[in-house]
Amino acid sequence: MRDVVIVGAGVIGGAIARELSKYKLDVTIVEKCSDVAMGATRANSAIVHAGFDAKEGSLKAKMNVRGSKMMKKFAEELGVKYKRNGSLVVGFSEEDRATLLDLKKRGEINGVEGLRVIDREEILKLEPSIGEKVTVALHAPTGAIICPYELCMACVGNAMDNGVELKLNFDVKKIEKHDGYYTVYSDNDSVSAKYVINCAGVYSDEIAKMVADDSFTVFPRRGEYMLLDKECGKLVSHTIFRCPSKMGKGILVSPTVDGNLLLGPTAENIEDKEDKSTTAKGLANVRMQASEQVSGINFGKIITSFTGLRSVGSTGDFIINENDGFINCAGIESPGLSSAPAIAEYVRELLVSAGAVLENKESFVAKRRPMHYFKECSDEEKNAIIKENPAYAHIICRCEMVSEGEIVEAIHTNPGARDVDAVKRRTRSGMGRCQGGFCSPYVVEILARELGVAYTDITKFGGESYINIGKTKEV
Ligand SMILES: Cc1cc2nc3c(=O)[nH]c(=O)nc-3n(C[C@H](O)[C@H](O)[C@H](O)COP(=O)(O)OP(=O)(O)OC[C@H]3O[C@@H](n4cnc5c(N)ncnc54)[C@H](O)[C@@H]3O)c2cc1C
Repeated sequence: MRDVVIVGAGVIGGAIARELSKYKLDVTIVEKCSDVAMGATRANSAIVHAGFDAKEGSLKAKMNVRGSKMMKKFAEELGVKYKRNGSLVVGFSEEDRATLLDLKKRGEINGVEGLRVIDREEILKLEPSIGEKVTVALHAPTGAIICPYELCMACVGNAMDNGVELKLNFDVKKIEKHDGYYTVYSDNDSVSAKYVINCAGVYSDEIAKMVADDSFTVFPRRGEYMLLDKECGKLVSHTIFRCPSKMGKGILVSPTVDGNLLLGPTAENIEDKEDKSTTAKGLANVRMQASEQVSGINFGKIITSFTGLRSVGSTGDFIINENDGFINCAGIESPGLSSAPAIAEYVRELLVSAGAVLENKESFVAKRRPMHYFKECSDEEKNAIIKENPAYAHIICRCEMVSEGEIVEAIHTNPGARDVDAVKRRTRSGMGRCQGGFCSPYVVEILARELGVAYTDITKFGGESYINIGKTKEV
């Protein structure tokens, strides 16, 4: 019998697992995919929002502002790239100025520091490439950027290093309530625990229904993005949001922590919780809006496009509640990433009020070695590492300059990579200009060797996504 089972290894499940790993508790995370961070956490805008967007007094507002204040230290401890680049919400008219003043007021009530509404002259000093028709902006110096899936992997990895168990490919199909505990079932496995924490993203309403809780629903809202080459990453330094209008919230133009330029997302309510397709219409909309916000975007440098699905809850706020030892973390749409460390604290308190006894674990280690530490080493340090292990001198991904040593490390560091995309998310191999055209076969080879399986057993993203079906002359 475990103390806690967490359903879903996104950034919310991961942050909660990491928080609970500070205490003497037996915790298991179950995740239906073959890796962590496969839901909304994988595909989003990667912004640590300052906190002026969410309605005053809402749980979203409280979690966002607290989470944003916690994030720098949180990311530092976990060795995750984080940059406080500040944000600008840009407007094009006097009507927009009034909206921005309202946003500023809301932000101040929420507790956001340093907000200012500024005019074009000052905007140009901050962002020389700002769109020609931009006249006014709300400047939030506390806005930041982070890598969301890296944060999730680091949370889960640190939790595992501190004793949490992770069960991948565990698709929860049924939950039984017994006297004082629950049993969570997949088709071929089960875990029993005193407390269940539902962090299943867009499926969290379906998990809640398994314990007869139909108090909310969650539907997917599609957001489409374009990602541009690192050559374009310095076009802006701030995250450039668009003033919300009758047409919706609009898209953003932002540098990423890895130096690319990100444009998007659109917002379209859909029904299929698995539909992660991009559309010509959506991407054209991104292109049109981005060009109004920022001048000189080189659309010839797009290296990929992708879609993320927001989990929109029926209550309009984050749905975080506890009943009989079952905790929901549902409807965690934006700013869920920004709020993750604060939600983890909040859930810890819910567990305590549900009767869990939390005793500090003296052996808890808060720090995790940065995933990209090798890249950040000086030449002398790199030479020393290479002397010990020449695999660090063998470059596998030429676009992102990722070595064999880093790939081997990604396979053997919690939570270990088991497929090609998992290696990509940990090391960036395959994320550059050629999008894996050159390095993928080598990554397959290294995975097969390190995991002791056949070349043909390696998949792109788990399940049936096999890359090689046999030797050429045998087929
Ligand atoms: C387009 C878009 C833009 C966004 N931009 C931002 C932003 O800039 N800043 C910000 O703060 N937030 C942003 N967000 C919100 C943020 O991404 C989410 O709030 C956050 O990722 C939610 O994390 P989660 O762990 O709740 O859900 P998810 O990441 O979706 O994780 C849920 C996990 O549960 C698993 N699961 C589901 N069903 C089962 C089952 N039956 N059994 C086992 N496992 C299951 C899934 O596989 C998944 O891994 C954005 C979201 C989107 C989609």
